[in-house]
Amino acid sequence: MTDELSKLFESTKRLYRTEADEAINRLLLILNSSLLDDRIISSIDPVLKRLMEVSNDIGSIEDKNFKGIHELERKIRVEEKTLELLENSISTFISHRSLSTTLSILFESLYYEITKEELPFLVVSRESEALQTYPTLRSEENELLVGVIGIPLFSVSHTHEWILAGHEFGHIIANKELGIEIEYNYSYKNSGIINNYMMEILADFTAMQIFGPVFLEVLLTEFTGAERASASPTHPPIPWRIRLCYDQASYFNRKGFNEEFKEKGVEKFIDAIEGVIGELYPKEESERIKGFGEMVEYKDVESKIREIKEKDFEKIRNIADLKNCYKNAYKFSELLRSDTIPQYEMNSYSPEQIVIGGYLASREKPEKFKSYTQNVVDSLIRMKI
Ligand SMILES: [Zn+2]
Repeated sequence: MTDELSKLFESTKRLYRTEADEAINRLLLILNSSLLDDRIISSIDPVLKRLMEVSNDIGSIEDKNFKGIHELERKIRVEEKTLELLENSISTFISHRSLSTTLSILFESLYYEITKEELPFLVVSRESEALQTYPTLRSEENELLVGVIGIPLFSVSHTHEWILAGHEFGHIIANKELGIEIEYNYSYKNSGIINNYMMEILADFTAMQIFGPVFLEVLLTEFTGAERASASPTHPPIPWRIRLCYDQASYFNRKGFNEEFKEKGVEKFIDAIEGVIGELYPKEESERIKGFGEMVEYKDVESKIREIKEKDFEKIRNIADLKNCYKNAYKFSELLRSDTIPQYEMNSYSPEQIVIGGYLASREKPEKFKSYTQNVVDSLIRMKI
């Protein structure tokens, strides 16, 4: 009996050792790939180190310590997830180079503008990928080393999806600048759910502060028509999100934003948004909506929402800066629409001005959105060279 158990233990050990070593080999392949830049490569080092430790520990684990070996197995599984994410981001880079490159350029440049620090970004786009943040690659001090953002495959040709991905970027910035958590609370107790909802709303508000009113519009475009009361333990009901963002957007008006862009048709744009919000997301109704099952009610989160509204979003991006961004974005959109973008002009636009400009141009002439998007992609990629 004892011998049988030892034999079983030995084969379990061999199995996990092989798995750890295979994961190490896959990581080494990634490390030697010339596709990733040095900053990303160095963020992989700790993963490799941990896996090597696990492999060693398996070798020296004492006989029949099944509990210990399963603990080591669990560690392998955690690292495998990161590994898989890295492999996916590399295949996204290979198969959708322009999506991967342009989004990285957009988010890296914005991150630097806001934090004055550098952070490399990786984009993951695979079958059934949804918009999400993967806060996986971190330092020992728990600082994010790489921003990993998942985005649906079809987003490659839709600038509005890039702006919507600003929500994911918002999670990362809210974490960095406002100290907001970045990982969901999966305990799903009432307080955990409320915490998750706050994270989501903060990511929306942060994205709106960065991308301005067009973020509200893409949110509206994306979610109008979706299940009205859909909610989950991680995401608040959509009418809440839209209604809260709309209320928050009045901030732009107070800061003279709308006045400044009056002649650009901003009023028309606001009227259109107001029409949809007024009809589909009336305030009282949005607040009354319950999540499904035992989810929280609006009154449970009210004080937290007040707390969010008191946060200093100017710290993320001040309104003068945003106005300047829109001034250039409108200029860029006019250039796009007149089909003349002289090369020498390119340096005067930042990536988000180009993306917002592309979006604004497509909004004016939806039939030309393909060529505008191509132009945006080309312009961004040229910045990289
Ligand atoms: Zn989110």
